[in-house]
Amino acid sequence: MAALTRLVEVAPNVYVARSRLYATATTVLLDGHGGALVIDPSWEPDELAAIPADLAALGVTCAAGLATHMHYDHVLWHPDLGYVPRWATPGTVRATVEHREQVLAPLVGEMPDDLIAIAAHLTPIAGTELEWRGPKAIVHEHDAHAMHHLALEIPDWGLLVAGDMMSDLELPMPDVDDVDLVRYRTGLDSLQDVVRRTRLLVPGHGTDAHDPMARWDADRRYLDDVVEKGRTDDPRATDPEMAELHTANLARAGRTPRG
Ligand SMILES: [Zn+2]
Repeated sequence: MAALTRLVEVAPNVYVARSRLYATATTVLLDGHGGALVIDPSWEPDELAAIPADLAALGVTCAAGLATHMHYDHVLWHPDLGYVPRWATPGTVRATVEHREQVLAPLVGEMPDDLIAIAAHLTPIAGTELEWRGPKAIVHEHDAHAMHHLALEIPDWGLLVAGDMMSDLELPMPDVDDVDLVRYRTGLDSLQDVVRRTRLLVPGHGTDAHDPMARWDADRRYLDDVVEKGRTDDPRATDPEMAELHTANLARAGRTPRG
């Protein structure tokens, strides 16, 4: 078997590749019947091309894709992954059709035109379970990081593919029109019971968590700090890349930055 270039097996049937850009996760789930579900493939052209090559090395083919949310770095694709359904929540599909240009604008000039052309062609998920050949896969939709965002739970595997929530690198990053953090907190809270029964959490950016509740607690504590105290000792907030976001979160909470 050819060596895998990017995918790393993190649990049985679960493979993750991390992009050199923002440690963005590509998550691959094997359905046990020779098929693979490819979630949020990312990011740079050579990294995207390595995913189908790695699937071939594993002896599986891409059966379907999944986009956790509408942001440009989560709706990418590669022609060698094939013309298979690429699922997303109905609201995400609607947004990427109605606002396609706006969604993909950050890619223009950064990615080859052919990869932009095949990005964000999504199919709505019917109901709250994926119709794939693997074990039961539950879609948990919320509006925290983005409207119509989903987290995918595979209960038999104790797995949660979280999208852009519960990262060890990035602070909670609300949708632009979340003006008071209430929507973010509501979305995070809606995942609490799911995270509690999860054993492995794969965030959209950062590293995988084997103690998922610690990630949930960190995000909740940060939001509480911002709203109630106007300050936090969350280590993520000391990252210069997070300064602007932290200041914006304080403003959302009606706070001005303090020490
Ligand atoms: Zn995002």
